[in-house]
Amino acid sequence: MNYYDVVIVGAGNAALSAALSAKDNGAEKILVLEKASIKDKGGNSRYTNGAYRFAYNGFADLKKIIPSLKNSNSIDYGKYPVSNFLKDLKKVTNGKTDKNLSKMLTSKSFETILWLSKKGLKFKPIVGRQSFLVNGIMKYWGGLTLEVSGQGEKLVDSLLKITKKNKINIQYNTAAKSLIYKNNKVTGINVLKKGKVKKIFSKSVILACGGFEANPKMRTKYLGRGWEKAKVRGTKYNTGDGLNMALKVGASAFGNWSGCHAVFHDMNGPEFSDLKVSNKYRKISYPWGIVINNNGERFVDEGEDFRNFTYAKFGREVIKQPNQIGWQIFDHKVRHMLYPEYDVKSATKVKAKSLEELIKKIDGINKNKALKTIREYNNAVREDIKYDPTIKDGRCTKGLKLNKSNWANKIDKAPFYAYGVTCGITFTFGGLKVNNKCQVLNKKLKPIKGLYAAGEIIGGIFYFNYPGGSGLTSGAVFGKIAGHQSASR
Ligand SMILES: Cc1cc2nc3c(=O)[nH]c(=O)nc-3n(C[C@H](O)[C@H](O)[C@H](O)COP(=O)(O)OP(=O)(O)OC[C@H]3O[C@@H](n4cnc5c(N)ncnc54)[C@H](O)[C@@H]3O)c2cc1C
Repeated sequence: MNYYDVVIVGAGNAALSAALSAKDNGAEKILVLEKASIKDKGGNSRYTNGAYRFAYNGFADLKKIIPSLKNSNSIDYGKYPVSNFLKDLKKVTNGKTDKNLSKMLTSKSFETILWLSKKGLKFKPIVGRQSFLVNGIMKYWGGLTLEVSGQGEKLVDSLLKITKKNKINIQYNTAAKSLIYKNNKVTGINVLKKGKVKKIFSKSVILACGGFEANPKMRTKYLGRGWEKAKVRGTKYNTGDGLNMALKVGASAFGNWSGCHAVFHDMNGPEFSDLKVSNKYRKISYPWGIVINNNGERFVDEGEDFRNFTYAKFGREVIKQPNQIGWQIFDHKVRHMLYPEYDVKSATKVKAKSLEELIKKIDGINKNKALKTIREYNNAVREDIKYDPTIKDGRCTKGLKLNKSNWANKIDKAPFYAYGVTCGITFTFGGLKVNNKCQVLNKKLKPIKGLYAAGEIIGGIFYFNYPGGSGLTSGAVFGKIAGHQSASR
């Protein structure tokens, strides 16, 4: 009864991709174990926008993924060659991304998304968030062009439907506890279900059960002081179980264990995200304004790059500020450009007719310093450079201790707005070392027989920062490989 070809731990995007690929490649008895109940299904994948970053060479490639996509002179989908994806990955990770893994991720991204679409995932262009209207043409920017229709909820529902159709069994309320291991070989897993420990034997085990972002103790241990106070943007179940299990049997830890994806997030959001509001706690339209801390000082270059390439690292900056909070300041000129999450009722927001009144309304801020910072910023804006939100326009400030590099506009048109933010952690970067077959490696860098990994739990791909939309792609690419390789055993 309890003997399987492949057992997969977790039931998010990486795990379900692995399960489908194992099935495609001949595994018959596949079991997916999920710690959460069916109500809390889908892991972090369910909280996403469903946006996948992948390489494509223009409209014809996108049409393969969305056969009904229409070409038009008023839409420019652009292109995003593998070399650009790789360049972006290298850029945001300061060149630290693992050579092999990054090559695999980028070069296999298109074929993997196409595979998912052929399995039944429905994609659509990300209108608005990833496109701008320029001279009557809707231009897509930043290499992140498609998302799953219905976003994370639909992504998980669709993957579960396809998995069911493929007769792949998922056991909910079943937490993997430890690996059954002897002589560098994994032969199964011990699980906890309804308070009882049970042994499940398998030729291969794929760990696809996320990082440690929802474990405050591990966060503080690996990310550092203050991280226990971060708000968790996704599931409460990713507590590092798979990492600890693998490390216990001698797996090699790899990658940026002190790093994570973390964003500006509503300061009054709950400790763990609420699916109804989910991504809307995020506040990432900062390129159009400035961010100040309680000392009234700016602490990031809000215009350093397109928000796709800075949003995942700025959460780490806000956690270093007094009380781990910041205030994003905007004026009327740019208010219409803020993402819809700024309109949610629960947003921590202050609005006023003058800057003096705005700052007066913000509790706990150094009011004199805050006003001085905004005035100095306004005086430093290079209005001689043309403002253009569709490109890195170079419209900067000059002479400030911390300059803004692009999209600098004076904050001078009432009404004025301030949004209170803190750090929202998305997922952790540290993980396990795997080879090209997604086999987990031991400390001698030899494969632990029968043990594979996919998704957030793989280390070495992301360091310091992250190109938006790469997490789902990474889960799908390495999940597909892990499924294939484990089935081949
Ligand atoms: C709010 C938000 C928005 C995001 N938006 C995007 C986006 O649009 N595009 C993008 O690419 N990325 C996005 N991400 C990142 C993305 O969610 C992750 O990179 C990706 O979903 C990770 O997939 P995964 O399968 O590795 O992990 P998960 O989807 O988190 O799945 C892990 C599963 O393992 C289960 N589990 C944990 N421990 C155990 C155990 N001991 N036993 C059994 N099961 C266990 C968990 O319950 C969970 O279901 C977003 C993340 C968040 C939080």
